Amino acid sequence: MGPNVIVVQSFGPETQRMICPYCSANVSTRVETEANAKTHLFALLLCLIGCWPCAPCPYCVDSCLVKKHYCPSCKSYLGQFEN
Ligand SMILES: [Zn+2]
Repeated sequence: MGPNVIVVQSFGPETQRMICPYCSANVSTRVETEANAKTHLFALLLCLIGCWPCAPCPYCVDSCLVKKHYCPSCKSYLGQFEN
């Protein structure tokens, strides 16, 4: 018996089919778009340079957001995609 090999699943921006490592179900991941630290930083920066009307913009720009993949069956967090 060799050591357990942990397969690192890489995630894209779209939903994808995979075997959930938690419940072993064959699922299509549920993708949720969430803001990350970078998003908040951008918004803060826009406020600081006087572009506060643009501050919500980073929250609407895809490249500033992370896509989090969840198992629709057991609701476990599976991984994320960052631009
Ligand atoms: Zn699951």
